[in-house]
Amino acid sequence: MLMKDFLRQAGGSAVIDGGLATELERHGADLNDPLWSAKCLLTSPHLIRTVHLDYLEAGADIIISASYQATIQGFEERGFSREEGEALLKKSVEIASEARAIYYERCIEASGACTGGEKVLKHRPILVAASVGSYGAYLADGSEYSGNYGEAITLETLKDFHRRRVQVLAESGADLIAFETIPNKLEAQAYAELLEEEVIKIPAWFSFNSKDGVNVVSGDSLTECASIAESCKKVVAVGINCTPPRFIHGLLLALKKVTTKPILIYPNSGESYDPDKKEWVQNTGVSDKDFVSYVDVWCDVGAALVGGCCRTTPDTIRAVYRTLSSRFVPPS
Ligand SMILES: [Zn+2]
Repeated sequence: MLMKDFLRQAGGSAVIDGGLATELERHGADLNDPLWSAKCLLTSPHLIRTVHLDYLEAGADIIISASYQATIQGFEERGFSREEGEALLKKSVEIASEARAIYYERCIEASGACTGGEKVLKHRPILVAASVGSYGAYLADGSEYSGNYGEAITLETLKDFHRRRVQVLAESGADLIAFETIPNKLEAQAYAELLEEEVIKIPAWFSFNSKDGVNVVSGDSLTECASIAESCKKVVAVGINCTPPRFIHGLLLALKKVTTKPILIYPNSGESYDPDKKEWVQNTGVSDKDFVSYVDVWCDVGAALVGGCCRTTPDTIRAVYRTLSSRFVPPS
């Protein structure tokens, strides 16, 4: 019920935040590291908090923790103990929760004044989603964008890989777990089984990525992947992230055929990522204005949660917020 109640209170649709890594870099963070944005958990948690606040003030109703690339195994490889790795995972959620608390204080401070300019300072339900990136994101070899883990990786390997991290994040104070950029069916199945077997007490969303506008990146059928999410009671929303905006409409129509759950959409800016060079290439991205011109259409087709992934900014999210606000349905 969490997501449906939340969406009703939010007026029918809600805003997810935007890209974290690009914004951290804009604030001066150096992310040239296999831990990527998770590196900031160690070196500059204040920057993560600032970016979360920027997104809340741009109108985001859901902020996603900086744990996408944070794994106990990844931290262990950097010389941290298992306990320290677990503490860093929890810290990612604590930073997001702190940002929410600071934001609520700012809303109270702003309530007496009519200023605030561009900032959205409006007390409203805000969710903290604990990000879980795929096994490929941990490998940091681009396989999150190919979904090809090789024959040696089985359902059990993936469950074992994610188990402790999901347990820790479920007890971290987050409102839900965001399984993001899921590249294949096997990993979706692993998450669904973990949620059941480990009696995870908070709900989750499943979000897949696509590079052809038809299937998920591995070539597995999107509808088969989404059906796994649909049949898992713990999953409260399903959708697409880190995918070029031009593919979203077709993917949404495919999702609608297999899910009754709220659909979430947080595309990237449309630029493409070169996993070999580890950088974004070709400025083929759409401008914020163009990105947002799609949002109404996505909502018409059934998207209930909209935000941005890589390379999107608080400006993108502010524009999404304005579009969704214009569609507001008062809670009955
Ligand atoms: Zn992304």
